[in-house]
Amino acid sequence: MAGSIKAFLKNLKIWRSLKMRLFIIIFLMGMIPSIFMRVGILENYERRAIDVRTLDVQTQLRIIANHLITYNYLQDPSSEVINAELEQISNLYNGRILIVNESLKVVKDTYGISEGKTIISEEVVRCMKGTNSVNHDSVNGFIEITIPIVETISFVNAEGDKDKPESMEVVRGVMLTSVSTDIIVTTMDILNRKAHIVEIIMVICIFAIALVLAQILIRPFDRIFKAINEVKEGYTNDPISVPDYLETEHIVDAFNSLFERMKALDDSRQEFVANVSHELKTPITSVKVLADSLLVQKDVPAELYREFMVDIAAEIEREDKIINDLLALVKLDKSVAKLNISVVDINNLAEIILKRLRPIARKNNVEVTLISKRGILAEVDEVKITLILTNLVENAIKYNREQGTVEVTLDADHQFFTIQVEDTGIGIPEDALGRIYERFYRVDKSHSREIGGTGLGLAITRNAILLHRGSIKVKSVLGEGTVFIVKIPLTRSLV
Ligand code: ADP
Repeated sequence: MAGSIKAFLKNLKIWRSLKMRLFIIIFLMGMIPSIFMRVGILENYERRAIDVRTLDVQTQLRIIANHLITYNYLQDPSSEVINAELEQISNLYNGRILIVNESLKVVKDTYGISEGKTIISEEVVRCMKGTNSVNHDSVNGFIEITIPIVETISFVNAEGDKDKPESMEVVRGVMLTSVSTDIIVTTMDILNRKAHIVEIIMVICIFAIALVLAQILIRPFDRIFKAINEVKEGYTNDPISVPDYLETEHIVDAFNSLFERMKALDDSRQEFVANVSHELKTPITSVKVLADSLLVQKDVPAELYREFMVDIAAEIEREDKIINDLLALVKLDKSVAKLNISVVDINNLAEIILKRLRPIARKNNVEVTLISKRGILAEVDEVKITLILTNLVENAIKYNREQGTVEVTLDADHQFFTIQVEDTGIGIPEDALGRIYERFYRVDKSHSREIGGTGLGLAITRNAILLHRGSIKVKSVLGEGTVFIVKIPLTRSLV
């Protein structure tokens, strides 16, 4: 049952509104104390009114009790004075007075019903022993009070010392009185009615206050919603600011940094598209220029045709390389790429790659050596490690000097293996070191183009390394050489 109420509340849309919850909390916090206060004040008033009335009646009854003894009323209840007094009191308090003598016989009943009857009620018997009692019957609306009728007997003490008179109190009878509380009940009714009116006014006021407060408290969230919508609709690109609460500040900060990221992503995507178009257009423009210049000439010698065709073929090859690199880069995109893990002998793989690259090195008069410090078996994606090694060694050969060297060192500890590719080439200027992994970035565009670079090699390399949760570092001295150090976890559990 409780579970179903909870589920119902959870699904109830209005209950899920923060404004509604705030409204209910403020409303209850206003109402509960005022209800308690009303109930408390009224109850307190009733108790106090009963006490005052009881005390009043008791005082009056005590005076009459003394008179009863003085007039010897218990033996002779015909005293006009006393009867008038009793009548007056019973009229004043809208009650009934019964006077009971020592033998529990009713001597006087102001209602005149029970005279001559015997009363053996518990209160009367107890009162005979000197104990007062007060009972409030709230259901029937009266207070029952018993007062003993006490006679004080003075006598001379045994030694006959008149200066020390002794006295004794003897209960001669009981006054049993019921007093109506009608007047208190009526006052309570009036007070209750007034309290209800005040309460209704308070409900309306607290309702209005709760409504306004909830609205005000929730306003910063409305502002966030509006500001985000404006960004969404594209009216503004400025960061949002809603500093009203710490909470709204945190939400807005998180949104702003997310938005900055999205903008940066969008910028880099746009830049990438612009770069791709430019890079792809360059070889095509060259091909067109070469073809056009052949077409405009008449009787072109076959050698010139051949020469131009070689150039055209080179440009097409370049276009093909760019497209291949782009495809490799797209495939390595972190979000889509999956690693095809197997246990690979890294030393063996490096040897095969270097063997393949040595002819190019020889063409450039560069010597490539492999230093294996220990045998390395790693759980990696063989194709991607091949890409990494090939790109780094190819660059080390391409950007080397005549008679230069490339040294590939393989090493491992218990967690990672490292590939270090060191060359004696042209080096990279310090301000370019941070940008070499950017797509299409080349330190010297024309030189890179001349030697067949696309500017995508290191971007591909870095992505492949990051997919293995590895790292790449570079150190370089301009004109002296460059070292790339790649560190990759040996096992899959570390990936
Ligand atoms: P590219 O296809 O032009 O070689 P890369 O992404 O592989 O593109 O490298 C980016 C740029 O970093 C290169 O154009 C080159 O200027 C620089 N570079 C990379 N490796 C080396 C190296 N070993 N020595 C000097 N410069 C290098």
